[in-house]
Amino acid sequence: MVGSCIGVCSTCKSGSALQWGPRLHTFISRGQIGRSALVQLMNTTDINRTKDIGIGKRRYINITAVSGGGRRMRPTVNAAAIETLQKGIAEFYDESSGIWENVWGDHMHHGFYEPDSSVSLTDHRSAQIRMIEEALSFASISDDPPRQIVDVGCGIGGSSRYMAGKYGARCQGITLSPVQAQRAQALAAAQGLDDKVSFQVADALNQPFQDGQFDLVWSMESGEHMPDKTKFVNELARVAAPGGMIIIVTWCHRDLSPSEESLRPEEKELLNKICNAFYLQAWCSTADYVKLLESLSLQDIKAADWSEYVAPFWPAVIKSALTWKGITSLLRRWKTIKGALAMPLMIEGYKKGLIKFAIITCRKPES
Ligand code: SAH
Repeated sequence: MVGSCIGVCSTCKSGSALQWGPRLHTFISRGQIGRSALVQLMNTTDINRTKDIGIGKRRYINITAVSGGGRRMRPTVNAAAIETLQKGIAEFYDESSGIWENVWGDHMHHGFYEPDSSVSLTDHRSAQIRMIEEALSFASISDDPPRQIVDVGCGIGGSSRYMAGKYGARCQGITLSPVQAQRAQALAAAQGLDDKVSFQVADALNQPFQDGQFDLVWSMESGEHMPDKTKFVNELARVAAPGGMIIIVTWCHRDLSPSEESLRPEEKELLNKICNAFYLQAWCSTADYVKLLESLSLQDIKAADWSEYVAPFWPAVIKSALTWKGITSLLRRWKTIKGALAMPLMIEGYKKGLIKFAIITCRKPES
């Protein structure tokens, strides 16, 4: 008998299609939608499911769809898994944002470094501001200053306050972390910007905004957390005003070559380890983002690989974590320690050309 099922793995939390049949994965119990099923993975090359249990071992999955025809089904994203992931993201940032701010200030993103520039390679705060400036200029925003901005995945609001100050624009930030939203608002008040910027806890996949509200939709290093990239990009496009710009700066995996169907097993394994530490679920490539934007008929789509410009960032973060202040802050917080331990993996991913630091921008059509 041959069949397939879409499940969410209880260990790695990723959703994917599993198949069963004579030469495929064997199900001990087929289970029902909404139930857990015990499966035995017999002959799988899917490293996500075999790396820590070994081929032939058993594992529980949550069944979200079942088909009996042996067709390969498209992976779906399970609501319960998203809820668990988002709770993890909120707790991770609740726990780590204070430490980060102490050492790095109010921008929780990579710096943009250029060997020949006037910004010194050790001046990380300037490099982080430079990242914002480079992104705005890549999208030619300065030609047409925005008035209404949404900061999707706002952290403690560094980008929002910076752009409110720069353009006099009204900025609304959303984050999953209540601690971040509160801190972002307090910093805005301290800087006299609270009439311009506001922050709230809300989901980027289900934004609390009307259609067409913002002439700049800004997502600085939040896309990597999104379990459903299609929904994410749809929401960005929905809240963008006609003619509005969308800027996504995010971690991607390398583009696949025409002969490849997926990343290599060892590459998937490395990304998986990073997922666990940083509460990510679904990596995609820059080309995947471009395809998504094209499918929504967005215009002036541009993308670039900025990996070389961010190379000094993770070594610097590791160095700061190894200072006395860094170590004593880390020791109190388990989720943050897990993140810190994954930093060398990010460096490895960049060095191997597997992880790409990407910017993707586009414009919503006027009508
Ligand atoms: N853009 C900020 C913070 C980047 S850290 C900066 O540059 O400083 C990633 C941010 O994405 C965090 O604030 C986290 O809460 C947010 N995030 C992740 N998933 C999200 C989701 N589904 N909805 C809203 N925010 C999300």
